[in-house]
Amino acid sequence: MDILGDLTGILGEGGVLAAPEDRGAYERDWRGLVNNPAIAVLLPKTTEQVAEIVKLCARHGVAIVPQGGNTGLVAGAVPVAGGGQVILSLARMKAVRGIDLANDAMTVEAGVTLKEVQTEALEAGRFFPVSLGAEGSAQVGGVISTNAGGMQVLSYGSMRAQVLGLEVVLADGRIWHGLNSLRKDNTGYDLKQVFIGAEGTLGIITAATLKLSPAIKARGSALVGVGSVAAAVALFQAARGALGTALTLCEFMDAPAAQLGAAHSARQTPPFAAPGYVLLEVSSLDEAQNPDEMLERVLGGALESGLALEAVIAQSGREREELIALREAISEGELAEGGAVKHDITVPAGRMAAMVLAVNELIAKDYPGLRPNVFGHLGDGNLHINIRPPVGQKAAGLAPVKEAITRAIEGLAVSMAGSFSAEHGIGQLRLAGMLTHKGAVELDMMRAIKSALDPAGLFNPGKTIPGAP
Ligand SMILES: Cc1cc2nc3c(=O)[nH]c(=O)nc-3n(C[C@H](O)[C@H](O)[C@H](O)COP(=O)(O)OP(=O)(O)OC[C@H]3O[C@@H](n4cnc5c(N)ncnc54)[C@H](O)[C@@H]3O)c2cc1C
Repeated sequence: MDILGDLTGILGEGGVLAAPEDRGAYERDWRGLVNNPAIAVLLPKTTEQVAEIVKLCARHGVAIVPQGGNTGLVAGAVPVAGGGQVILSLARMKAVRGIDLANDAMTVEAGVTLKEVQTEALEAGRFFPVSLGAEGSAQVGGVISTNAGGMQVLSYGSMRAQVLGLEVVLADGRIWHGLNSLRKDNTGYDLKQVFIGAEGTLGIITAATLKLSPAIKARGSALVGVGSVAAAVALFQAARGALGTALTLCEFMDAPAAQLGAAHSARQTPPFAAPGYVLLEVSSLDEAQNPDEMLERVLGGALESGLALEAVIAQSGREREELIALREAISEGELAEGGAVKHDITVPAGRMAAMVLAVNELIAKDYPGLRPNVFGHLGDGNLHINIRPPVGQKAAGLAPVKEAITRAIEGLAVSMAGSFSAEHGIGQLRLAGMLTHKGAVELDMMRAIKSALDPAGLFNPGKTIPGAP
């Protein structure tokens, strides 16, 4: 194809991967559910190269699929079927452009990984709070484009709350220089918000200025056994009441999820048996405070009242990492052991127990043999209610019932005043949910924004907004 020569002219030989064997890893999504060919994978090194690519692709009518670490769980970063798309990977845009300690801000290019941002912040004597299982691969551009949440939303908010400014290449090839570190700027629309969580449908994020938080001076972590989801929610409320903003993490795992996470991490088994587990973390900016004592006070009361069945407090950094790994390894464990029909719902805290109960009853009654695997961000009301196939089988075998299960679980969440996609976004796997659950007015406003910024449908067609150009 003609365009490949022009693309090579912009990016050089190493910047254009056109051979099928070179493209393969970029064309398949993390879950292995979608695998469609791209014309080529493009690896720009500068914002100006991204702008040149966009202008060239617009002239040729070739659509662009932006890609970060390709760890998204809704196949947003890989092509849709039908051809005519290039993948634009930001992996080679890895510069840390600057750290401004006076302003508690860091400007990085889109291809810097989340883990690298955390490490840079730590080395600068600060803290970057967004943390998730895929942080070693997920990139700043992808994490912003999905408005990822992770384990510390409870006290720091999701990625949206960490973004101060953006640099974006628009569909006409112009560069929007929106990098700044201002905390206040009410000069018309806050345009960066439009691109955060847009899943690459409105522009290509090439750099971001991120907010840095004060360094954590002391931390305590505990794993607590509970008898039910209702007890887990009550424990969260008690812990938050006693600890306030010092409670920085509160995650839930049912027994199967904890066993799976343990089996795929260093521990092999959870430290004790329980029907459910709550992982709690307390952080302090004051090294004179003792987070373990704060946890002991809360857990002492919970054990006495019967809200908690058993508890361990990490005694070292290594023990803390093992407890966190138990939770973080669940998704990879699911994938390694046959996959699952995955869901990512939020409901108000008071409805969480009813939600899980309803799903367990539904599966036991209509799909006996399938295995609910429930875990997630308890403090945010965000649960991953995943349904695993019978032991020894693969989730691909659930194809005939998959849609019905997902419709039922998403419908239950929405009927409980919840959302059918809390933090993973829509991509190409949750479009049916958009049509079912989003109102016509909301969809019209989204299509209007898409038409205004990308009238030809150049960026990520077939994703996120059904019926958009
Ligand atoms: C083990 C595991 C654990 C996870 N845990 C969590 C979790 O706790 N919380 C959570 O929210 N998510 C979680 N995720 C999902 C995923 O890691 C996040 O969505 C992450 O933010 C994706 O980043 P990425 O760089 O891999 O993006 P990609 O997957 O490459 O892309 C995601 C979307 O963003 C678009 N995009 C990527 N880069 C750009 C750019 N520069 N400009 C414009 N658009 C772009 C893509 O087109 C796509 O639509 C998890 C995933 C895994 C595999």
